[in-house]
Order: sequence, then structure tokens, then C-alpha cells
Amino acid sequence: MMRCPNCNSKDIGKIGSHQFYCWSCFIELTVNGDKMSVYQVEEDGTLSSLDDLFFGEQIPPQVHANGM
Ligand SMILES: [Zn+2]
Repeated sequence: MMRCPNCNSKDIGKIGSHQFYCWSCFIELTVNGDKMSVYQVEEDGTLSSLDDLFFGEQIPPQVHANGM
């Protein structure tokens, strides 16, 4: 049983082969292998990534090429 990384709820519904939806805080979770992505569903139906909120430490900051 997976938990929502946002609200820690177990009220997770499966909406696709690798997609889940948290019914407590209304975010979408996408699992791709070992990687989990989190999206917030906006009122107009678009998805905005919340990855940098939850997994920011795994994403390197935008660093410009340092004089290769
Ligand atoms: Zn949640």
C-alpha cells in the first residue's frame, strides 16, 4: 500500500497503469520505475509538477555550463 507523499493518506486510487490519485489532497502520482512524480491538478485540468517540492534534492539545480 502506497502513501501519498503530500498528506500521507492511504486513500490512493489507481487511475492508470502507473498513475494514482490521492483523494485526500487531490494530487496525481505517477510512478515510473523507482521514480515517483507528483502533480497537482489545476481547476482547468492541467497538471503542474510538484516534484521540486517533494523531490527537489534529487533534481540538480539549473547550473549553467561551467566553462567546458
Ligand atoms: Zn494526498
